[in-house]
Amino acid sequence: MSADPILTLDDLSNWSATGTHLAVLGHPIGHSVSPPMHNAALAGMSAKDPRFGRWQYHRFDIDPDDLPDALRLLHQKGFLGVNLTVPHKIIAVPHVAAIDAAAAEIGAVNTLLHTAEGWHGHNTDGYGIATSIREELGIDIEGAHIILLGAGGAARGAAVEFLRRHCASLHIGNRTAASLDVLIKQLQLIAGNISLAGFDLSAPPASLPAGALIVNATSAGLKPSDPLPIDLGKIPLPAAAYDMIYNPRETPLLAQARALGIPAANGLGMLVHQGARSLAIWSRAEVPAGLMRNAVETALATR
Ligand code: NDP
Repeated sequence: MSADPILTLDDLSNWSATGTHLAVLGHPIGHSVSPPMHNAALAGMSAKDPRFGRWQYHRFDIDPDDLPDALRLLHQKGFLGVNLTVPHKIIAVPHVAAIDAAAAEIGAVNTLLHTAEGWHGHNTDGYGIATSIREELGIDIEGAHIILLGAGGAARGAAVEFLRRHCASLHIGNRTAASLDVLIKQLQLIAGNISLAGFDLSAPPASLPAGALIVNATSAGLKPSDPLPIDLGKIPLPAAAYDMIYNPRETPLLAQARALGIPAANGLGMLVHQGARSLAIWSRAEVPAGLMRNAVETALATR
């Protein structure tokens, strides 16, 4: 059997392994680099504390219809923690016994912690992106003008985090007006006195702030043939550009930013820091984010 097999609901039904187990659920899940990322961290942590030598992180391909059964079985079988990825982050919410405030505001969970009452839901994506932006672009979200591209699940999580961290203003551009309108209405409930506005991605208004942080949370850039989500040459000069996409490492948006001399970073740091935060929630120990980053780089390079 491969060191990192794709497990199924049947594998879970028959689960009898000893030790401490963690898992990521997705559909599909073959692309996930979370198992090598977390297992590298656990190997590093076991050098200081041997109990982590008995911890293991697995991946399960779970159909959305099977998610309630999978979560019930994972709890019954004593898994300590679970990560959720596409398409499970929102549909898992009704199946948790408790949820922390940020995850409740986002309406999505990516991290579950085993408690006696059931799963406790968290969302570490916002922490991941804010930490990555500070580390790689030297920008604190508090007081920053932000132009966010996209109105899907990732954009929603980032927008809630930016508002919670008191950004100076938040402009959100999307291709489809209907999903943008829904998002803006939901965010107005938590924006307080922070300036919040939506715009049509195909016609960015001249009133966008100069010196803003651009954050791409659209999937435009995943394929080499994808269009730019926004033309940086046609808006007031941004201070920096962040693309949540990390594979490919350089999207058309990041290439254009570099050509214009604008500092730019991809979403690899977000992936690493959301994972490091999840592992900290489960282990209550110091987590080696550097080892996790190296493991992700290696896993991506060999695919
Ligand atoms: P969703 O499917 O929920 O949302 C996709 C968004 O992209 C929508 O706003 C959609 O607009 C927009 N979009 C898609 N194609 C285009 C296009 N050609 N031009 C302009 N806009 C487009 O996806 P997610 O929110 O879950 O993910 C978004 C991105 O973030 C993905 O690339 C994903 O890989 C990345 N991501 C990275 C993470 C990390 O850890 N680094 C974590 C999570 C996500 P419309 O409403 O018009 O359809």
